[in-house]
Amino acid sequence: PPSKHGRRLKLYYASQVAINPPTFVVFVNDMTLVHFSYQRYLENQLRKAIDEGQLEVFYQPKLCLSTGKLVGAEALIRWRHPVFGEIPPDRFIPLAEESGLICDMTVQMMRKVADLLVCRIELLPKGFHVAFNISATHCKDNALLHECTRFLSRFPTGSVQLVLELTERQLFMDDDHVLTLFKRLNELGVKLAIDDFGTGNSTHAYLQSFHIDFLKIDRSFVNLIGKESVSSHIIENLIDLANRLNQVIVA
Ligand code: MN
Repeated sequence: PPSKHGRRLKLYYASQVAINPPTFVVFVNDMTLVHFSYQRYLENQLRKAIDEGQLEVFYQPKLCLSTGKLVGAEALIRWRHPVFGEIPPDRFIPLAEESGLICDMTVQMMRKVADLLVCRIELLPKGFHVAFNISATHCKDNALLHECTRFLSRFPTGSVQLVLELTERQLFMDDDHVLTLFKRLNELGVKLAIDDFGTGNSTHAYLQSFHIDFLKIDRSFVNLIGKESVSSHIIENLIDLANRLNQVIVA
């Protein structure tokens, strides 16, 4: 029969689940319960996804506006789970960044992309841009620099242009290590882009601290072109800024 204590526990955990939904509580009986976090579960699943090759690369083409020709592509990670199907990036990328798994994921993706492109490089325009989204976690040591060196060494010189896109989800600190890292990447010929430009607070800090080659105007602004006067003014300002700083715009 349910003890008084057991009922109170059940009530307590039910309230916790209500407050904090990503937590599962399974009652085995009145006094025994299994309590595990959805976050931890997803993290384990993500680790497995990396090891078992469930992560796929999707390519978003980049076209030159004046010629209409293909000039590059952004490589994007997609997760096809064997049971849950396709998991949207906004469900697992923040988790991958928090847990640090993003570094292994990015390395795996860069190697997959190199494998795919290396035998097709003659089909692509010279200096084909290959862009990857980079997390601040990946800039804590020199692993990213080594991976970029490895990536570029697989192609004839000048045949690909490696671009790293800095997102504003995690702040890139302009400490000595990051500044040295970006300088060495720059010497290696790697270009830097600010992703989702116009949405974050750190944009100005990035522009001041780092050598930025591309500004990627956020989709939220691009979608509003021709629809709303305030947004079109903002876009005009962003374009003006990019021109003054001699940066290429990606929309
Ligand atoms: Mn991006």
